[in-house]
Amino acid sequence: MASPPDFLPALTGSLSQGAAGNPTVAMIEAAYAHHGLHWRYVNMEVTPAELGVAVRGLRAVGFRGFNCSLPHKVTVIEHLDGLGESAAVMGAVNCVVLRDGKLIGENTDGKGFLESLRTTADPRGKRVVLFGAGGAARAIAVELALAGAARIDVVNRSASRGGELAALLRDRVQVAAEHIPWRGDHAVPADAEIVVNATSIGLYDAEARLPLDVDSLRPELVVADVIGNPPRTRLIRAAEARGCRALDGLGMLVNQGAVAIRFWTGVDPNIAVMRRALERALGLSASEPC
Ligand code: NDP
Repeated sequence: MASPPDFLPALTGSLSQGAAGNPTVAMIEAAYAHHGLHWRYVNMEVTPAELGVAVRGLRAVGFRGFNCSLPHKVTVIEHLDGLGESAAVMGAVNCVVLRDGKLIGENTDGKGFLESLRTTADPRGKRVVLFGAGGAARAIAVELALAGAARIDVVNRSASRGGELAALLRDRVQVAAEHIPWRGDHAVPADAEIVVNATSIGLYDAEARLPLDVDSLRPELVVADVIGNPPRTRLIRAAEARGCRALDGLGMLVNQGAVAIRFWTGVDPNIAVMRRALERALGLSASEPC
């Protein structure tokens, strides 16, 4: 006997302010459609004052999980039942997963970065130069440390944020880390193997320049940028021109969406389908695979 039609999809989505500008929905729904999943992903606009009510509402209607974007990544924690390992260290959640009836907070920013990086290099045992000490840098640094990076140089303009991140890395994930004051064009040391821009320099400005001595970019380096819009930042172009392996911010974004889909559905989604959908949504022409 044929099973009755099912008009009730499994629900996922995103809570944020400025939700209308969040393109993640395009790549997640493309993956659901590609894999024949009866799942939906919805962008939802929520103020900080209404966050608790919103999370209770998502619980009530059986959401299987949801992403949290600005400004809710820290404040959502008080409305959850528990945290995954890296989210607990970072103190920030951008992905919530319903596990055995409990809402568990995870952080996919750093995991997405790591998956994108692993298409090119394994960070185990490597020295990393990380520009920035904000939310994205913190997520990336913690995952790099958990993945066995040997040493992380936190190059940041503000000493307070840079020092705080270096201390967190030493104390909570036991990796050699220090804050390096950012004075003039920073030269990448000869024994570093991975360089990451995790600042917002380059966002919406393809000509914005990261203060970096491009002559220190050796062809053996992997150079990654978190900036996804535009993906071909000045740093990415300079790295490619010097023969480095370059990873753009779209790879991180697509992979963090893939991690979320895996958490929620158990399905390993097709990365190429997701990247194409994201590029279409952002009005970009097809570029290299992530
Ligand atoms: P934050 O505001 O938390 O941190 C910004 C960082 O950039 C700080 O370290 C800040 O330094 C540094 N910075 C900004 N402007 C300058 C400048 N002119 N010179 C030197 N340093 C500067 O932002 P997030 O960490 O949340 O986000 C950073 C970027 O990462 C954003 O552009 C965001 O779009 C991107 N991102 C990309 C993701 C992806 O999937 N591709 C995911 C998440 C974020 P200081 O401490 O001195 O102020």
